[in-house]
Amino acid sequence: MKVLDLRCSNDHTFEGWFASEQDFVDQDHKSLVQCPVCADSKITKKLSAPRLNLSGQFTSHLSTTEAPATDTVHTVAQAWAAFSKKVLDNSEDVGQQFAEEVRRIHYGESKSRAIRGQTTVDEVHSLVDEGIEVMPLLLPESLKNPLH
Ligand SMILES: [Zn+2]
Repeated sequence: MKVLDLRCSNDHTFEGWFASEQDFVDQDHKSLVQCPVCADSKITKKLSAPRLNLSGQFTSHLSTTEAPATDTVHTVAQAWAAFSKKVLDNSEDVGQQFAEEVRRIHYGESKSRAIRGQTTVDEVHSLVDEGIEVMPLLLPESLKNPLH
């Protein structure tokens, strides 16, 4: 089993598991190797030291769950910051009323909209139990309230 560091033409980097290097070449030739981020099939192999893969992944299983290589951290952080900013720009801050308000919206007692705010882990578990979708929002330092 061979783990290859791959890169698409949009500069996304990811790993691919292949039976051999030739296996990658064959699959790449048939455009079977795609970027997990943008589905681009113009994939090039980054030069990397061979690594032993003991987890028995299937051929051409692609994964982005591995810790990103150093050169992708920058873009991941940027994407994260852009995403967080978008969430901030498009949601209403309800502060400590978050759990209460999200329930009102869920049960149609309040106008449907994107909100954000603070709540406890216990509340989040209750919300999830009630079938309400909540998502943790971890803000990059750059987007935290500049007054603090
Ligand atoms: Zn890509």
